Amino acid sequence: MSYAMTKTAIIGAGIAGLACARVLACQGHEVKVFDKGRGPGGRMSTRRAPTPMGEASFDHGAQYFTARDPAFVTEVARLTTLGAIAPWTGNLVRLHTDGTISPLANETLYVGAPGMNAVVRALGEGLNVVWATRVDGVQLVGRAWHLTSETGVDLGAYDQIVCAIPAEQVAPLIGSVAPNFADQAKAITSLPCWTGMFAFDRPLTTSFDALRLDGHPIVDFIANNQSKPGRTGPVSYVVQARPDWTAAHLEEVPETIAEQLAEALMDIIEDRPTLIFQAAHRWRYARVDVSRGPGHLWDHTRNIGVCGDWLSGPRVESAWASGHHLGLAMRTAQVSGD
Ligand code: FAD
Repeated sequence: MSYAMTKTAIIGAGIAGLACARVLACQGHEVKVFDKGRGPGGRMSTRRAPTPMGEASFDHGAQYFTARDPAFVTEVARLTTLGAIAPWTGNLVRLHTDGTISPLANETLYVGAPGMNAVVRALGEGLNVVWATRVDGVQLVGRAWHLTSETGVDLGAYDQIVCAIPAEQVAPLIGSVAPNFADQAKAITSLPCWTGMFAFDRPLTTSFDALRLDGHPIVDFIANNQSKPGRTGPVSYVVQARPDWTAAHLEEVPETIAEQLAEALMDIIEDRPTLIFQAAHRWRYARVDVSRGPGHLWDHTRNIGVCGDWLSGPRVESAWASGHHLGLAMRTAQVSGD
């Protein structure tokens, strides 16, 4: 099978799926990526909302990311040149339980520009990505993989497939065709995160742009979204609840959660500006509770691969590395004729 003839389908257009897609597309594979979302982002999404003072935007998933892996450093440099990534250079701090404050990190923290989803959008540039399509059926017929959508639409036949979705969604999708991979996914647990999104009528009287709180009973992290590069619109803040608080309030309605997180935020900052927008988003599976793993999974006898943060660590760059290295492994398998 030559590269040019290899048809690959990737399920999930988050950063892992698209990193894999890019490696394969560069090698001449015909790659099609399916995502159930209406647009780019996955857990690196940006939410836009109308307010009386104009459209507000919120990075309501990942807040920032690091670049330590040399291959990811190169990719970040490429996407920075394209304007899709920029460093976040505000007053980013951590409040310790003893009341002392230290810098949030001793390394450069990056964000997408003008929103976190710009990273995924730029990665998908030039690739064949089909949005708003949830893959619901995966079958192996002879040596061909067949995919169907949740509405029963035939999504085509492929030589090889990649599953690049969160751990909890892997087993229901590929459990019958790749039970070993599904079992590994079932062993993973992800921590939930209620996220509040708030826009205000004026700047807040705070000195920080990002604040991680150690030991607060409700709030884990607060970000001044406007302090990130390229953001426009009214003053907007994102508040992430602690995983244990989220778990205890998981089934409450978003409106109640938004009110509780707004109250917690204003208590912490000791300021009471007028709210012009508030909402809460529940991430049932936000961050995987593993620090590392095998990186990716690839069955070269049947041409099915799996990638995502749950195989590599709970971070943007781990997810990217998982997809990138799966793409390289699939390419090597083609070269060696496996
Ligand atoms: P995802 O981004 O989840 O992508 C999977 C994609 O698959 C999604 O787009 C989804 O729509 C699609 N999909 C799922 N099922 C199907 C299906 N059946 N058919 C079609 N498409 C499907 N990381 C950091 O480095 N720093 C942070 O500060 C940080 N904070 C975070 C805060 C929150 C609230 C959350 C949620 C995550 C945070 N993370 C952070 C983690 C980081 O966002 C993830 O590790 C990373 O984005 C995972 O990428 P992924 O491609 O593996 O998965």
